[in-house]
Amino acid sequence: MGKRKPDHRSALESGRDAAASVYPAISRGALRLRSALWGRSGTETVGPPSLVTLELNAGRGFEADGAKGGREGKAGALERFWRARSGPSKSDWLDIVNGVGAGTTLRLAGGDPLESPHLEVILFEADRRGIDVEIVTPGARLEECAPVIYGLGVSRLRLVLYGPEEVHNRTTGDARAFESSVRGALAMRGLRCGTARPTLVVDVVTSAESVPSAAETVECALAMGADGVVLHWPCAGEGVLDVGAVLMLSRARTKWRGETVRFFPDLGEDELRRYYGGEALSVGPKRCLVPWRSVTVGADGKVRFCGTTVGDVGGEALADVCNSEAARLLRRELKKGPAAECAGCPGRFGDEGLVR
Ligand code: SF4
Repeated sequence: MGKRKPDHRSALESGRDAAASVYPAISRGALRLRSALWGRSGTETVGPPSLVTLELNAGRGFEADGAKGGREGKAGALERFWRARSGPSKSDWLDIVNGVGAGTTLRLAGGDPLESPHLEVILFEADRRGIDVEIVTPGARLEECAPVIYGLGVSRLRLVLYGPEEVHNRTTGDARAFESSVRGALAMRGLRCGTARPTLVVDVVTSAESVPSAAETVECALAMGADGVVLHWPCAGEGVLDVGAVLMLSRARTKWRGETVRFFPDLGEDELRRYYGGEALSVGPKRCLVPWRSVTVGADGKVRFCGTTVGDVGGEALADVCNSEAARLLRRELKKGPAAECAGCPGRFGDEGLVR
């Protein structure tokens, strides 16, 4: 009697189904517990943040007059150097990188961090110190920068798509933006050549206008060979939103089962209705942990928590600015309850490489 082949496919499928339902519930429970524990603690000061975002570039490519930015800029190749003149100097950025603790993720973001003339030196320093680096980019210069990104050990590349070709080009103000992103993603995949780094995640960032075409954008991202796709729901309170279109897309998610597509925030239909109805849903009972665990340094050198400026990197160590009087005041207020700006902010659902 011949040996029966093990039916590993059904075992995998049932395992995958269980993982898709059980583990998200466990991680939400863990976040709730963590938030509850923090909620009981009295601290306004923080240790080294686990996420430091450097907005290397002010993002002129996103100005209303799109012709000024992106690849159409009149200053040509020197534009990225001229633009950086008013921001922190190379040594300011390096001081921050050198002050980042082990275990911290360094996120390079801002309009397009690949436009910054300081990109290479920051990546080199971070690689030398073994820091986990993530880059968030719409990808206009990705094809050109892919060898540097690969060679200097970046862990994750988050490519931002605002919609299918026409929507993405209109949003970025660059008629070739989508084509550049696709070429960059393919170059990155080609360079990896069988290795796993950097992971390529495509962030599909939707707005009230682009929700109906979001499924098409996800298909594009999968065709580009993304290791993961995160579909970001529109922020609550931004524009007039067709909640019906959101719910329809939420129901359609079953067609990507087995693919690496996630939704952020990961809410069920009822929760989505409540979220867009203005309810302050949260992963935790009361407290959002973002101002306790992450900090942003803007292209102007200002240090911000949740959009509130608490200091400046010029001459002061980042760790000190994180515990400045303004920063402690902000946390003290948030301990009493959510601020007005928390209402539509997805930050409280946990971090998903959020592009804000
Ligand atoms: S919900 Fe948003 S604004 Fe409020 S504390 Fe969290 S990140 Fe900041």
